[in-house]
Amino acid sequence: MTTPMTSANSSVPSFSEIALHHCRLCHGPVKTTFVDLGMSPLCESFLSADRINQMEAFFPLRAMVCEACFLVQLKDYVRPEHIFTEYAYFSSYSASWVEHARQYCEMITKRLNLGAKSQVFEIASNDGYLLQHFLPVSVPVIGIEPAGNVAEVARRKGIATLVEFFGASVAQRLVGEGRGADLIIGNNVLAQVPDLNDFVSGMQILLKPDGVITLEFPHLERLIAENQFDTIYHEHFSYFSLITIGQMAARHNLRVFEVEELATHGGSLRVYLCHRGANHAKSAAVDSLLAHERGIGLERMETYEKFSQNVYQTKRQLLSLMIGLKEQGAKICGYGAPGKGNTLLNYCGIGRDFLEFTVDRNPYKHGRYTPGMHIPIYPVEAIDCAKPNYLFILPWNLKNEITGQMHHVADWGCKFIVPIPHAHVIDPRRSTK
Ligand SMILES: [Zn+2]
Repeated sequence: MTTPMTSANSSVPSFSEIALHHCRLCHGPVKTTFVDLGMSPLCESFLSADRINQMEAFFPLRAMVCEACFLVQLKDYVRPEHIFTEYAYFSSYSASWVEHARQYCEMITKRLNLGAKSQVFEIASNDGYLLQHFLPVSVPVIGIEPAGNVAEVARRKGIATLVEFFGASVAQRLVGEGRGADLIIGNNVLAQVPDLNDFVSGMQILLKPDGVITLEFPHLERLIAENQFDTIYHEHFSYFSLITIGQMAARHNLRVFEVEELATHGGSLRVYLCHRGANHAKSAAVDSLLAHERGIGLERMETYEKFSQNVYQTKRQLLSLMIGLKEQGAKICGYGAPGKGNTLLNYCGIGRDFLEFTVDRNPYKHGRYTPGMHIPIYPVEAIDCAKPNYLFILPWNLKNEITGQMHHVADWGCKFIVPIPHAHVIDPRRSTK
């Protein structure tokens, strides 16, 4: 009898299996589940009409937490090249996000005294929603954006944009061309980086000696405190506290010298990083927020282990509300088709039996269907024709903007449903706006 050959599916671990067991930041073993949201399709893979009768890929959506650096993370079930090279998210379709970017540019230009001799980079610059605000004040900018379709929109606005994934090798090439950075901006990109260390190493290489990096990302503290489980999706590999960001910076000879808490995306942090030896004084806000995070237990595993129970409760409560309304004969439509909406719809099992359709301001999504649940996406005007009893707000982080824009639905008695942090109904006739 011969010794059996080793087969590829019995003893050789795949790339994904290796990634499951090693933290993407500190490489320690990752064994603890943060929350398991079952099987879900890719959140941004909106389907055209000719694809809804075909098979659809679902992947496990299970977030883990590292007990050494407390990075909450998904393993990369899907290669980023499959996610980000044709991207449906155009930042400019959110008016409040563009305004947020404008205010940031005004603030940071003054704070860092940026001018015609400065060089600003934005990583994941999308359609130029942010860098466009530097053009009137003549600050040179370069965007780096892997999705060719959105990068093209930025170029048409006059924003130099490189279509590639950022990392150490891109940074070395740029520095070799004499293009060091006075400011590197990374808004809502850190979560989407599969090789975190290569990415941060790249920023460290690109940054001039006194340069500044600002990163914005949803704050893990708020995700936990407000049951924002729908911000977990395959395209977001990592979820950060300031504690973890500090460890990440230190691994690459960088340090955090300032932090601001923002209302965006359900509660974000903006951190300012510089080289370890650079002359940027550390603000008191940094130690204060670190102390707060320790105080609420973000360095204790039981804090993370409790999260699942809160998510299950949020799901039950939302379904109770929706079932009750449907039993009364209510007509419910969605508002918005954000990526995170698809985590929520798939995890809770909310399909066309609950939502007749949803609408979105992004024309790219019109005529398409949400992944998994196949809810059709129409232009916003469809709401006025259908006159539903309830509008279910999927991008709940924009609920103030949306209830303001759609206040006229009160004319036919329509109310809003907000699913997070707990399902509740807003009656626009009782609001002042
Ligand atoms: Zn770790």
